[in-house]
Amino acid sequence: VWSLSQPVGKPCSDTSNLLDSKLLSDPLQTFVFLDRHVRHEATAFEAEDKENDASRDVIVTFARRPLKSGYDFGKSSVSARSFSTSSTSPPKRVGVVGCGPSGMALINACSKLQDPSSVSLTIFEKQEEWGGVWNYDWRTGSDESGRAVHASMYQQLWSNSAKETNEFLDYSYEEHFEGKATPSYLPRQLMRDYIAGRAEKAMGVDGVNVDVRLGSGVEQVEMEGGKFRVTTGGEKEEEFDHLIVASGHFSVPHSASFPGFENFNGRIMHSTDFRNALEFSGHRILVVGNGNSGEDVALQCNKYGAAQVYLTYRTEKSAINWPEGIEETPNLVSVGGEKGRTCYLKDGSEIEDVDAIILCTGYKHSFPYMPNDLRLSTSNNLYPQGLYKGVAWLENPNLFYMGMQDIWIGLKVYDCQAFWIMDSILGKVGRDAGVEERKGDIERWVDKLKGIKREGAKEGVNGLRENLNFQKEYLQDILDDVGETAEHGYNKDYRALLDTHVDDYMMVTEHKREVRRSDGWSEATTV
Ligand SMILES: Cc1cc2nc3c(=O)[nH]c(=O)nc-3n(C[C@H](O)[C@H](O)[C@H](O)COP(=O)(O)OP(=O)(O)OC[C@H]3O[C@@H](n4cnc5c(N)ncnc54)[C@H](O)[C@@H]3O)c2cc1C
Repeated sequence: VWSLSQPVGKPCSDTSNLLDSKLLSDPLQTFVFLDRHVRHEATAFEAEDKENDASRDVIVTFARRPLKSGYDFGKSSVSARSFSTSSTSPPKRVGVVGCGPSGMALINACSKLQDPSSVSLTIFEKQEEWGGVWNYDWRTGSDESGRAVHASMYQQLWSNSAKETNEFLDYSYEEHFEGKATPSYLPRQLMRDYIAGRAEKAMGVDGVNVDVRLGSGVEQVEMEGGKFRVTTGGEKEEEFDHLIVASGHFSVPHSASFPGFENFNGRIMHSTDFRNALEFSGHRILVVGNGNSGEDVALQCNKYGAAQVYLTYRTEKSAINWPEGIEETPNLVSVGGEKGRTCYLKDGSEIEDVDAIILCTGYKHSFPYMPNDLRLSTSNNLYPQGLYKGVAWLENPNLFYMGMQDIWIGLKVYDCQAFWIMDSILGKVGRDAGVEERKGDIERWVDKLKGIKREGAKEGVNGLRENLNFQKEYLQDILDDVGETAEHGYNKDYRALLDTHVDDYMMVTEHKREVRRSDGWSEATTV
């Protein structure tokens, strides 16, 4: 018998609604349960286990009341506030693809407008919940409707960005968690809850006119008569004056292949399908790629009992002093050998008896639903070509892409972009410049980025501070535009916050490295 009691002291009356409960190896427990048809996922900080002859009760104290992200969208999973518009002109009709952190930042930006009802947002979300990649899904490949699974996080993922450097200006962790202490690096459930908590708050602001369509994947976008026609569910079409693509870029794998893979006698997978490191307990693993995913996956496997983890690098070794059980090696060249489980490396060395190869080779920007002439084509970099101010389509100022950059400054990026996009839709910024001027502005940023890369290569710097500075300057540039219109009250504070962000981030990174360098680091870190 499981009984759930919540901080308000009310035990769950109907435990049949408990869907699933998992005891993680971390000192946290995750419970997923239904309450009034709303799915809750909660992480318990304390669990009291009482056993007697007849039953086993576990009394769980949650960090807070059931997740705010268990927002009640109603039966049809549509949430629309009725509102009376105070503006004389009809609201701008805006379609949005995706309700992850970017889409949710748009809801917040709407709520901060002088007249929130001047914009009508329809957000199409293919998952059954908002939250983007922060929604965990045990599935890989296709979901129950045959759509590609968006999730690429694993069960025991903790945010790799410290909360002190990844906080919304208008909604603190303290506010969200009601003053309760939380660690710097939050488990993914709490990050998701925090992000959703602010969106929920924004939904409640008077005049906000947002319709979130859950379980509604965009299949096709066409341009007709200057309008965007969006098709969902096979045949349902709707027209919008503006379209914002906010469908993320961390779910379609960029796979690599190496000679001999077809005959490898073990498992080969991309990190997008990595769900639980326990699967690799006792195994010998080769992780290809030492970027963020490679680093995280290697540590997870090590933490959950892998016999040995080899982590390959392409250009340079990371600055990490790895714990026992992880070794950084030159890149993979091919696989084969007598047992079909030997990995041959670039320096001529070999690793035998490898059980699994995990490709941490990144993700692709993919927008299959967009028409060819409006489809963004870019790698993961700090300034994608073709987007004016990093968001507006060069030839069509009514089309926007959000969050498509390589993200170094975290959640604040989506907020700043959302402010600019809202003001642009309202005709306040970015509408006067012609195509040539817009193109010139993009070129200026792209050249600046190339310059940083050239200097970095010359001086052998790893580029962390340079990349952070570049993104900071880009965000301050778009905030300066917004500042002129003063549509949002607090953009100036955001600008100032970004000024200190780079130093704060560098300090946190140094702390992280120090912890890793110290003897007991694997005990102390939570990654
Ligand atoms: C393994 C991993 C770890 C990460 N760790 C961190 C971290 O520690 N800190 C951090 O700040 N960031 C982290 N990130 C980055 C993360 O992507 C961002 O935090 C954030 O989720 C990006 O928000 P987004 O809304 O732009 O994209 P997403 O979160 O990807 O959301 C896009 C949304 O669009 C929806 N969608 C896609 N296609 C369609 C369609 N055709 N129709 C309708 N809806 C659609 C998706 O279902 C999804 O909900 C991590 C990412 C990964 C993959």
